[in-house]
Amino acid sequence: MKQLKKIGVLTSGGDAPGMNAAIRAVVRTAIFHELEVVGIRQGYTGLLEKQFVPMESHSVSKIMSRGGTILKSSRCPRFVEAEVRSIAHDNLKEAGIDALVVIGGDGSFRGATLLYKEFGFPVIGVPGTIDNDIYGTDFTIGYDTAINTAMEAVDKIRDTADSHNIIFFVEVMGRNSGFIALNTSIATGAEATLIPEIDTEIQDLCHYLEYGRRKNKSSGIIIVAEGFGGGNAAEVARKVKEILPTYDTRVSTLGHIQRGGSPTCNDRVLASRLGYAAVTALLDGTTDVMTGQINGDVVYTPFEQAVSRRNDINQMEHKMAQVLAL
Ligand code: ADP
Repeated sequence: MKQLKKIGVLTSGGDAPGMNAAIRAVVRTAIFHELEVVGIRQGYTGLLEKQFVPMESHSVSKIMSRGGTILKSSRCPRFVEAEVRSIAHDNLKEAGIDALVVIGGDGSFRGATLLYKEFGFPVIGVPGTIDNDIYGTDFTIGYDTAINTAMEAVDKIRDTADSHNIIFFVEVMGRNSGFIALNTSIATGAEATLIPEIDTEIQDLCHYLEYGRRKNKSSGIIIVAEGFGGGNAAEVARKVKEILPTYDTRVSTLGHIQRGGSPTCNDRVLASRLGYAAVTALLDGTTDVMTGQINGDVVYTPFEQAVSRRNDINQMEHKMAQVLAL
């Protein structure tokens, strides 16, 4: 592989708290190794539009505590077309960029691996998404912040639920994955958790609520991941109300507050480690992989595996959450 002189870095797909710490780590590690760094704004869109900004050490000063991404992110649907990716590759070559760090989720890695497969262009991924569903890392950057935000919100909702004897259906993010829902549930002692990975019949949920009531539980929190197969929080609440009309029910959708905010210490540390590891790996000639952390160690997983497998939730933990909330 030709010697690296200049690398590009971009953030793509859904933003996640900690992406800035990852950008900072990439930029500072590269500069330490006397590489030039180009920030590419707005993910693959910026790559196609040549939105290139030279990055200096001070470009990433004091960004670590900020949520979102200073480089901005985007969805770029046309990147699935080979001719469009060829324009991206031409733009990278024209700018003298020798390798690319992609901070994003599995969709972004699908695009990244194609740049390598089609053009032999060196790419490396850093997993940034609140969903924690990427294979090849115990945690993704942003997930820890998201569950802490959700936990604090549910604690507040519980005050009202308790005061007014209400069953609250709280919808959290997770279209394909129940990580946020399950761990928010465990941390808040929610009475039930409805996630995409597990089928829960509404009838069973009602039995469970009735059981709680017999044990003098006058209020409750049901956490519903947005991708739960039985419907969103409002639909689940409506179905429960049909079966248990005397229950006072409310719905609260946490929405985008889960994506924003200052990253937790865990997310900042993880992002720093993985950003650093991405650049050092590129310097060693490693490409077409994602950096991750497993059991405390930095590991590299081929994109091929990172995008075709997923991190599964531990089904026993779902049962545990229920047992502990009884
Ligand atoms: P995330 O990276 O958070 O999973 P997306 O799934 O929206 O977010 O993917 C981000 C971007 O990655 C997309 O807008 C698109 O530009 C690119 N991408 C996603 N899937 C593919 C694919 N199969 N081929 C090429 N590019 C893709």
